[in-house]
Amino acid sequence: MGTQTSKQAFEEAQELIPGGVNSPVRAFKSVGGTPIFITEGEGAYLKDVDGNKYVDYVQSWGPLIFGHRDESIESAVIEAVKHGLSFGAPTQAETELAKLVVGLFDSIDKVRFVSSGTEAVMSAIRLARGFTNRDDIVKFTGCYHGHSDSLLVEAGSGAATFGSPSSPGVPADFTKHTLLAEYNNIESVKKCFADSDNIACVIIEPIAGNMGLVPADKEFLHELRKLCDEHGTLLIFDEVMSGFRATLRGAESITGVTPDIVTLGKVIGGGMPVGAFGARAEIMAQLSPEGPVYQAGTLSGNPVAMAAGYAALSKLKQNGRVIDVLNTRAVRLVEGMRDAAAECGVTMQIDTRGSMFGFFFNENPVKNFNDATKTDAELFAKFHAGMLKEGYYFACSLYETGFISTAVTDEMIEDTIAASKKVLKEITN
Ligand code: PLP
Repeated sequence: MGTQTSKQAFEEAQELIPGGVNSPVRAFKSVGGTPIFITEGEGAYLKDVDGNKYVDYVQSWGPLIFGHRDESIESAVIEAVKHGLSFGAPTQAETELAKLVVGLFDSIDKVRFVSSGTEAVMSAIRLARGFTNRDDIVKFTGCYHGHSDSLLVEAGSGAATFGSPSSPGVPADFTKHTLLAEYNNIESVKKCFADSDNIACVIIEPIAGNMGLVPADKEFLHELRKLCDEHGTLLIFDEVMSGFRATLRGAESITGVTPDIVTLGKVIGGGMPVGAFGARAEIMAQLSPEGPVYQAGTLSGNPVAMAAGYAALSKLKQNGRVIDVLNTRAVRLVEGMRDAAAECGVTMQIDTRGSMFGFFFNENPVKNFNDATKTDAELFAKFHAGMLKEGYYFACSLYETGFISTAVTDEMIEDTIAASKKVLKEITN
């Protein structure tokens, strides 16, 4: 499998685009090697500039639950394009997509569409601060909520502490209101509440996908809800990744914990740039133009993006069992890989939620970011490179989640397991 053209394309891109990419993880830095430059996607497959074909387990980092070029999404987009790309004025397409989202999430009475997950979270936090008239927020180490300033905070050691920026360019003043807690550790959240009586919201990925796949324990989420209620603090579920991937009706439907605000993205855009945040009417009433909390966007509710999102969500809703079917495949995939690893004397931790799957080359179960960092990064890098050579495109970082689309067949899953066996044998010998 040659990748010469990708190498050349990467060199050329690096001359013009910082690091050659428009989002850092794409640069393959954590696994070494050169990113593959893509020409097209088709169903379960990605094709690259050298003519290679890969089974795609990244799916554009989550949005493409029906695979590449799904017929109904593609035709909805083409139809929308024919009417104009953007109007900067309301369209009924926004209301139609809103109806779907509101109908699926019990916690959401009203929803506002934006253009990315980052924007959705940034706006949700402003809304929480405006609603509670408080400044501090709590986030969990290892959870990613986009790249807005106050959320780019160094991963802590687990002890609750006021955060410091994890990127140059973010003034310490901007992150001094962000407190860090440890995922799945309620004592660390209690410490935050002991340190501050000014906490507007706690934001969490209820099914974390940005430290590998690490779902929160149900009991932990229930205790979190209780703590928030006791302190008049809002609970935000960031479901930009897990929304419509892990389950159709949000993490609230499988955990029994109702958040105050939910943020969404990825699948709700069907592959187009969309984010959203929603909450009960009383909270959303604070948002501009109804209320005083300002929030806006030139391309928000873009008609082409709304059409793609509507096609994706309505297809998901109509095929209620899709997510269960995908879960069966996800379970088979990671169990097969784990058994292959065991044959080579390697312990793998695995988990799935709906169409999301995760694996760690780790001796012990992973409950938080600290556990996740104990993964064998060198082995992961070799595994990634080996699988790529065999024609399987996995996320190029050990802290990412894998995704199965409806275009991935049982046969592809079995072939992936067989390839993983071959690769693991090679790299552990
Ligand atoms: N929140 C979560 C949970 C995410 O996984 C991501 C992106 O992966 C974001 C927010 C940011 O979304 P975006 O990359 O669309 O800005």
